[in-house]
Amino acid sequence: MTGYFETSIEFLKGVGPQRAAMLSKELKIFTYADLIQHYPFRYEDRTRFYAIRELNEEMPFVQVKGKIKSKELVGTGFKKRLVAHFADDSGEMELVWFQGINWIADKLKPGADYVAFGKPARFGSTFSIAHPEVEPLTENNEKGGFLHPVYPLSEKLRTRKIDSKTLARIMHQLLTLSENRIRETLPKSILTNNSLVSKKDALLNIHFPTSHEALASAQHRLKFEELFYIQLRLLKMKLIRQEKMRGQIFQDASLLTRFYHDHLPFPLTNAQKKVIKEIYADLKSGLQMNRLLQGDVGSGKTIVGFICMLIAVSAGAQCALMAPTEILAQQHYKSLKRYADMMDISIALLTGSTKKPERKKIHEALQSGAMNILIGTHALLEEEVQFKNLGLSIVDEQHRFGVAQRSKLWQKNASVYPHVLVMTATPIPRTLAMTLYGDLDVSVIDELPAGRKPIKTMHRFDSHRLQVNQFLRDQVQLGRQIYIVYPLIDESEKLDLKHLMDGYESVTRAFPDYPISILHGKMKPEAKDYEMKRFAKGETKMMIATTVIEVGVDVPNASVMVIENAERFGLSQLHQLRGRVGRGAEQSYCILMTDFKLSADSKTRLETMVRTNNGFDIAETDLKLRGPGDLMGTQQSGVLDLLIADLGKDGALLVQAREQAIALLKDDPELVKPEHSAIKIQIESRRTSPLNWSRIS
Ligand code: ADP
Ligand code: MG
Repeated sequence: MTGYFETSIEFLKGVGPQRAAMLSKELKIFTYADLIQHYPFRYEDRTRFYAIRELNEEMPFVQVKGKIKSKELVGTGFKKRLVAHFADDSGEMELVWFQGINWIADKLKPGADYVAFGKPARFGSTFSIAHPEVEPLTENNEKGGFLHPVYPLSEKLRTRKIDSKTLARIMHQLLTLSENRIRETLPKSILTNNSLVSKKDALLNIHFPTSHEALASAQHRLKFEELFYIQLRLLKMKLIRQEKMRGQIFQDASLLTRFYHDHLPFPLTNAQKKVIKEIYADLKSGLQMNRLLQGDVGSGKTIVGFICMLIAVSAGAQCALMAPTEILAQQHYKSLKRYADMMDISIALLTGSTKKPERKKIHEALQSGAMNILIGTHALLEEEVQFKNLGLSIVDEQHRFGVAQRSKLWQKNASVYPHVLVMTATPIPRTLAMTLYGDLDVSVIDELPAGRKPIKTMHRFDSHRLQVNQFLRDQVQLGRQIYIVYPLIDESEKLDLKHLMDGYESVTRAFPDYPISILHGKMKPEAKDYEMKRFAKGETKMMIATTVIEVGVDVPNASVMVIENAERFGLSQLHQLRGRVGRGAEQSYCILMTDFKLSADSKTRLETMVRTNNGFDIAETDLKLRGPGDLMGTQQSGVLDLLIADLGKDGALLVQAREQAIALLKDDPELVKPEHSAIKIQIESRRTSPLNWSRIS
């Protein structure tokens, strides 16, 4: 869609400069193309009339044809309302108004026929519709009509009298005007193979469906197209990378062999061995590696990362490992330094709090090549950090970094991009991984180290506090340590901090004889570090914390995780938090504390946590509950603002679209065939989809 569809909506009849400004500000609709792609989010079913006898409360909106038998004013003051008794051949119901009573009462003529439309509710044995739309029955409406589009709008637009009907009128006008200019954007073969309707048909029917079937076909076609183009672009990027991005070849495995032979702290799981093989194959392939390493919390990604570093270091290259928080970077440094020292490999930690002289030393050692491995936070990305030959960049807990930051890490080697390994503990459902990381290769560690006991998860109400405290006391007597986590959510940070402090006080009161640590994001790094260390050494028995401990912290003796106000956490966050325990040999527990009052979604989240420890299972449920936008912080990144497809529900269609994209690229990798010209234009145009491609690596 170029040229014509780039016309400003200002020029449509009934829009004009003022409305155009409102629409662009509120809904980001600037051009004809934007408007056409503003799809309804539901439809009012005006295709048929329901008999009053057929009504039930499950029905969303219904249209009923009947006679007003009488009208009356009922109640006084607040409860004053207008009730019209409305009847058809099958029965009688009530139409009720609480507002605009006089005006409506004037209009309604007892004895006349009307069409009423609204959501039915039941009181006793009588059905009623509150504030229905009513129109006198006429030749125009007596046969029933179409599915009417209902558009997403903002409150502001409504107050300015731009409602769904207004938008539908404007849309109708645009479609009539432009109908014959709508070009097909998919090749014939793909349309036929997948039984898709034409683009024109789809756009007309998504806004003004002529039937339920036509609507379903339109939705199917547009979803397919959206997913198809996402996949095609990702796969094309991957193809280009595979052709153009040379990678350093790391073949020497001498350090690796020595590490396996002399220093391996535990036998690797089969899953760990499998992914190391996959990564090693990449590193010696001559192509730049871009690989996502997925593994549930505690699956042992760190040592896999280290082993890959050994391969790079053997070949004389340097490695960087970037973590999202200072605590996590320190923790990585601590565990990897142990291994690195055994192997006589130099390693350093660089974070925001590294002192200047130390920093300078690190910079020099990196430039001379004396330093093999650098661990750190985003401080690694600073301009002054230059390597002699960066060969492998590992990014841990990927979703916390912007992709732009990640790509900065690539630029640290100007002659050949370093190999990139992205490690994530957030199990990503397959459909989402295909979309977010469709251009990356994926390795999965799908097995936990042997001997781990599954964590027992329980849901307890605040009223069970005494029993829970007794349980905690018993666990501490057994020598275990405990985390107690409080929510800290930005909007109410002050209040949350107060909750945390109150929590700290009540815990110290309940356990006056135990040393207790506290940890939250507002503390200075040194103070955090000090508390973390005390807890890690076992000097304190309990750690009261906010979600700063969510990521990566590893204290094997901590075997109980209590999560306060658990209903306020998302599923994947609960799972991440739970992953902090269950790392030692002892039975571990996760206790989810909540109030009695819970929403249906909260209940599902808590039940899911109690039911399963499986991260993928949890991620699937999370995707269904929240939709992909909220998952793993992708919301801020805007990467997943799909127009019409829903990754939670359209998984099968996504797979189908991806297969078609693969087949197409196999047949015509450069898209030079004439029958693919539409695709080529689409892929190269700026406006094919709302996805911001610059944000995806
Ligand atoms: P994550 O995948 O969450 O980053 P870590 O790498 O922190 O997990 O590993 C979790 C714990 O499991 C660490 O204490 C680590 O030393 C240990 N571990 C890793 N791999 C194994 C293994 N194969 N056998 C036993 N313990 C392991
Ligand atoms: Mg980790």
